[in-house]
Amino acid sequence: MSAQSTANGNGAGPERVGSGGRGPSVAIVGGGFGGVGAAVLLVRAGYPDVTIFERGDRLGGVWAHNTYPGAACDVPSHLYEFSFEPNPRWSRRYAPQAEIQEYIEAVARRHGVLEPARTGTEVTRAEWDEARAKWQLETSNGPFEADILITACGQLSIPKRPVIEGLEDFAGPVFHTAEWRHDVNLDDKRVAVIGTGCSAIQTVPAIQPSVEHIDIYQRSPGWTMPKMDFEYSERARRAFERFPALQRLDRMATFAFMDIGAAGMTSQRWLLAPFRAAGRRQITKAIKDADLAARVTPADEIGCKRIMLTDEWYPTLEQPNVDLVTEPIKRVTPTGIESEDGTERPADVIVLATGFESHAFVAPMEVVGTGGRTLAEEWDPVARAYLGLSVSGFPNMFLLYGPNTNGGTGSVIYVIEAGMAHVVAALDTLQRTQADRIEVRREHLDAFNRELRTALAGSVWHTGCTSWYVDENGNDPSQWPWMWSTYRRRTQRLEPGAYVTARVPSHSLSA
Ligand SMILES: Cc1cc2nc3c(=O)[nH]c(=O)nc-3n(C[C@H](O)[C@H](O)[C@H](O)COP(=O)(O)OP(=O)(O)OC[C@H]3O[C@@H](n4cnc5c(N)ncnc54)[C@H](O)[C@@H]3O)c2cc1C
Repeated sequence: MSAQSTANGNGAGPERVGSGGRGPSVAIVGGGFGGVGAAVLLVRAGYPDVTIFERGDRLGGVWAHNTYPGAACDVPSHLYEFSFEPNPRWSRRYAPQAEIQEYIEAVARRHGVLEPARTGTEVTRAEWDEARAKWQLETSNGPFEADILITACGQLSIPKRPVIEGLEDFAGPVFHTAEWRHDVNLDDKRVAVIGTGCSAIQTVPAIQPSVEHIDIYQRSPGWTMPKMDFEYSERARRAFERFPALQRLDRMATFAFMDIGAAGMTSQRWLLAPFRAAGRRQITKAIKDADLAARVTPADEIGCKRIMLTDEWYPTLEQPNVDLVTEPIKRVTPTGIESEDGTERPADVIVLATGFESHAFVAPMEVVGTGGRTLAEEWDPVARAYLGLSVSGFPNMFLLYGPNTNGGTGSVIYVIEAGMAHVVAALDTLQRTQADRIEVRREHLDAFNRELRTALAGSVWHTGCTSWYVDENGNDPSQWPWMWSTYRRRTQRLEPGAYVTARVPSHSLSA
């Protein structure tokens, strides 16, 4: 692992990622599970010249940024971890944020990719240099160049701020769940929480006991399922340590269950019936107030929006210091929030649990491919990539957790590892053929895209709800419309004819 300095950012030429002579140099943009996983898997595959660029001040991605009270994963930790780094010592079935953050950094440290990572460095632009078969990077710390570009920028790394009249003039603190203000003491305050998605259902139960009052502003309810979270006893953790097969078995069972869920949301929609029944039962069991029960019961099909796992959300809504407001917000005043019906509810603090710019992908970084065409142009009106990983016109570039690799169930870490198997297969192909550039064929990308859109049309995500998967024009650059085992199978090797490799004549001069 190295990031060799041969020049600096004062005009003497780009700093070169990699050491040369030991396989291609790889620049990885983003230091979350994707960036760390990519770096470790490349090193393990014999490609040590990798450098992670992370704009934040530490690695971890969403787990470094989302420190709101109650933050935790909603996939059991034995699946929400790298397969090559099982952690038998998770404290709970669903690990809390701080533990996941610790885990990512520990894995990075153990594999030697933590220290060399360039944190506090934003990649603002990446341009393909056809003559030299290299990616030229502009960053907040000067220029760099690399043979291969991997973007691991996440789908949920840019907080989404709602446009609401008066929000800027609110007198108290306003912050997004992904930018939690730990310096703001919520004890005995009146808090307004806007949004009822995954972050809200975790943070509201965590802050409710200490605040004076919470008003939760709901646009449309989402389906929930019991989380059935529990603490692992010391005995259980020791058992996982002593008998790793136990943990593998749990991982496999969790994966199988979630893959059935994936089938239910896509080709086998009849499988959703028991999930819908469990969702309804959870509401009727927890909520006695018929009016409240009606207001939290979704009208749309289960799975259309992301299903949320919780044991605490409905009991919290019944607490005397909590109100669920379903009347649309009209405007924010300096001292509270006014709804369309004219009611103004006072607030000391506003928490925006309003999700992320999930369709931004690599933005705001500008990526320029062959012929000066930008990725933003290529992706207008909708982002698309072959297996979510590669785009024609952008040679030697791979996207991790790219377009259409999100699911309604499953672990994103599994997706990242499967994608990396594909990237390693591509690098092996470059080595074997002694080529400098590899690019997915446009006809292949087009054929994949047609197949993908046909499958998506029959999925539960396109049954008419509003969700972060589908935009206002019906475009869906988010979801993978098949099972996760299918993703793994399709990414494990390069399909014959999918890619074209070439040797750039001048490359030997610049290498
Ligand atoms: C609160 C929360 C809970 C979640 N829980 C789960 C869960 O339980 N299960 C699950 O499967 N998924 C979950 N997710 C989804 C999560 O996004 C993925 O699981 C996974 O962490 C994504 O990793 P990533 O590395 O692809 O992206 P991220 O973790 O988003 O990391 C991307 C990193 O890239 C950096 N970056 C972006 N652009 C640039 C640039 N131009 N230059 C430099 N750095 C850049 C960002 O700062 C960020 O740190 C959750 C997401 C959130 C927000």
